[in-house]
Amino acid sequence: MTNTKEVLKGDEVTLDIEPGMNILEVNKKLAQKNKDILKEHNVQAIDIMGSIGAGKTSLIEKLVQKLKNKYRIAVFKGDLTTTIDADRIGRHGVQVLTINTGRECHLDANVVARAMERISLKNLDLLIIENVGNLICPAEFPLGTEKRVVVISVTEGPYMILKHPFTFMTADVMVINKKDLAETMKIDIKQLEKQAKEVKPDVKVAVTNALTGEGVEELIKVLEL
Ligand code: MG
Ligand code: ZN
Repeated sequence: MTNTKEVLKGDEVTLDIEPGMNILEVNKKLAQKNKDILKEHNVQAIDIMGSIGAGKTSLIEKLVQKLKNKYRIAVFKGDLTTTIDADRIGRHGVQVLTINTGRECHLDANVVARAMERISLKNLDLLIIENVGNLICPAEFPLGTEKRVVVISVTEGPYMILKHPFTFMTADVMVINKKDLAETMKIDIKQLEKQAKEVKPDVKVAVTNALTGEGVEELIKVLEL
């Protein structure tokens, strides 16, 4: 892999890699730095991973609606090119920063660090990061958040967990979304929970319908927010 080069709000940010240093190692170090900075400012941060269409943005909208009176919230929204999701979240009156990653299919700790420089961490309690819609490589790039959430929806079929075990291993919380469609899709939600726990025994699970908000209180509870 070559240098990551990510564009953030018109500015070009390049991650310089020392020769011989592995990109994942560099990312890990930067993630730890982010974690320290967030801790120093008492900001809780959550990285939300999941495929395109799993319901990440809808869930974030519901979380923001329910939590915005309790916490000062900012949302970082990783996307290849558009600001559609950011606009959806922004309607709820919280600060949203879009990180357009160009061709990169994941966020990394470097772009998150650059984005963190653009907001006032002193005036923030909760940072929610919506990763790029993709269930594979975001798992390999921790961002420095305290918690990682993986969202799957029942419309993605019964094998999401078995096919992406590494992603689920890195998750603290798994959300099973679109619960209202489970019967139509012939998905056994209990089976998905069981598979997740086989991969990550201490994973916490919330079952939601992000459109109606059902299960979002449960998610807030497992996130300890
Ligand atoms: Mg989205
Ligand atoms: Zn990627």
